[in-house]
Amino acid sequence: MTSRSLFLLPGDGIGPEAMAEVRKLIAVMNEKEAAGFTTEEGLVGGCAYDAHGQAISDADMEKAMAADAVLFGAVGGPKWDAVPYEARPEAGLLRLRKDMELFANLRPAICYPALANSSSLKQNVVEGLDILIVRELTGGVYFGEPKEIIDLGNGQKRGIDTQVYDTYEIERIAAVAFELARTRRNEVCSMEKRNVMKSGVLWNEVVTATHKARFSDVKLSHMLADAGGMQLVRWPKQFDVIVTDNLFGDMLSDIAAMLTGSLGMLPSASLGAPDPMTGKRKALYEPVHGSAPDIAGQGIANPIAMIASFAMCLRYSFNMVAEADRLEAAIAAVLDMGLRTGDIMSEGCQQITTAEMGDAIVAAYAG
Ligand code: NAD
Repeated sequence: MTSRSLFLLPGDGIGPEAMAEVRKLIAVMNEKEAAGFTTEEGLVGGCAYDAHGQAISDADMEKAMAADAVLFGAVGGPKWDAVPYEARPEAGLLRLRKDMELFANLRPAICYPALANSSSLKQNVVEGLDILIVRELTGGVYFGEPKEIIDLGNGQKRGIDTQVYDTYEIERIAAVAFELARTRRNEVCSMEKRNVMKSGVLWNEVVTATHKARFSDVKLSHMLADAGGMQLVRWPKQFDVIVTDNLFGDMLSDIAAMLTGSLGMLPSASLGAPDPMTGKRKALYEPVHGSAPDIAGQGIANPIAMIASFAMCLRYSFNMVAEADRLEAAIAAVLDMGLRTGDIMSEGCQQITTAEMGDAIVAAYAG
């Protein structure tokens, strides 16, 4: 029987509540489909600090490195506002991203038909939307050196950040985008600002060369990142896969996300390089939202972002495409039935709890 190892890091706040719903799906898939998932669970964020004085322990870090995929809930909360900076809850997530070398961040923006009227954009603009933003996650201006504030000595200071990309960093993120496009509608739009940035000129050259050398079957276009932001709100359905750097990706993926409504609906994946021996990529799947301390412990959080992150895990770590499609269809079906958690509630619908939403999706999945 196939064995598929998952390392679960539920974290703080609503993280464990959302993860509990994914556990139900894993159990059903093991029982009914012999999916062969094995799970281990660890601590990350504030709860790890309480237990070990660190945002993630070395032992849990090792388990994350060894697993086929990591499912991450959320971290943080006011309880840990005063902990030392290096042990703050977010440090656990940053360490996972760094040690697992997760350079590719995937953020889909999918608009479920049942929620099209809750977007801030017109229904026909977002209905049926299905785009994927691929953001470079470990390079660029967030990490480039020098990065400092210097005192100029004349009553002025100077803040410096450095936007820097090497060829290999652009090549590998472009390759991820092209490979993903092949599993979708086969189109990539690369966004940078080559009109004013040297790193943008290089980005454009390397993406073009990578396309020519290895992915000429995929349709490639280029757009300046500011125009891309405008096009995302004007007519987002023109895009399939967008690939962009860390800074522009941060902003463009948030814009794309909000096309589809609530934070409680948004999944994400972060992927590393393929292992040269096995071809498998290290991978972490997490909802975009945080630990939502304002609603934690009440059983009312929306588990769909977490469940949809698990669907991404099925698709990208285990190539279980049919199961991923079925799970996404189950989410859509439950929304079509008018079942809603509080964050996506609208008139005429029925408000349900986190666990009821999880149960409804499991039932729709299991048929
Ligand atoms: P948040 O995403 O936790 O919450 C923002 C708002 O959205 C809140 O009103 C919350 O109730 C609501 N919300 C979020 N997810 C929801 C869901 N699944 N269902 C229903 N409503 C939902 O962001 P925040 O309030 O800025 O941050 C709270 C804590 O989370 C902070 O400690 C922050 O540092 C942390 N955080 C962690 C992550 C992460 O773990 N990746 C990401 C963002 C923020």
